[in-house]
Amino acid sequence: MRKAVILTAAVLALGVLLAGSGFAQKKDAPQPPYVDPGGPGKPPADAVALFDGRDLSGWTNRDGKPAGCSARDGAMVCVSGSGDVYSKESFRDAQLHLEFNVPLMPEQKSQMRGNSGVYLQGRYEIQILDSFENPTYANGSCAAVYGQAPPLVNACRRPGEWQTYDIIFHGAQCGADGTLLKRATVTVVHNGVLVQDHVEIQNTLKGCAESRIGEPGPLMLQDHSGFPNAPRTEMKFRNIWLRHLKEPH
Ligand code: MG
Repeated sequence: MRKAVILTAAVLALGVLLAGSGFAQKKDAPQPPYVDPGGPGKPPADAVALFDGRDLSGWTNRDGKPAGCSARDGAMVCVSGSGDVYSKESFRDAQLHLEFNVPLMPEQKSQMRGNSGVYLQGRYEIQILDSFENPTYANGSCAAVYGQAPPLVNACRRPGEWQTYDIIFHGAQCGADGTLLKRATVTVVHNGVLVQDHVEIQNTLKGCAESRIGEPGPLMLQDHSGFPNAPRTEMKFRNIWLRHLKEPH
């Protein structure tokens, strides 16, 4: 009898505790939609493939003409002088995946060794650089939000090896009157390692009204050859896709 009383009291106490925590089962809530997650080299079912290894039909140069890079052995190959390339697909908030391969350039150092970059909305650069045993200024190293935030750690592989970026990006939000309501944010996972943790991107542009930073933009891959004394570089990219993220987040 005494055990039963204790047990009942314990159950009641647990019930009060759970009710107080605010958790509750909502059995009539809609189920999350199923997404086939794909696998190595295969995007999730609801992703937009920006480059699937076959052709560059999803890309242009700065002027909207055919991109200067080429498709070879399943990779997008961009040699110096081929120009920046822009995805035809634009995005506001997105999950992005991209694989890249920087060449071995032992005769070069710092920013001259395997420099490219992933420009989110064509505006904010996540640096690509051979930062494997190649010191440079921290906020210009591989996986930095260029000029702003160094990566939390250096997770680079050796040049010539394929590397991955998985990026969660939320674009800046602007009010109807052109005021900045919310800065863009970015989370970057480099080779499976967290390197940017929901970083607020500072606005180097003039703002909503003049630079329209609240509007969608493309993915841009940088050709660094226009910079002074830049050496010849051959960058490779593959398996590039994005998933549009719905508001609000
Ligand atoms: Mg760069």
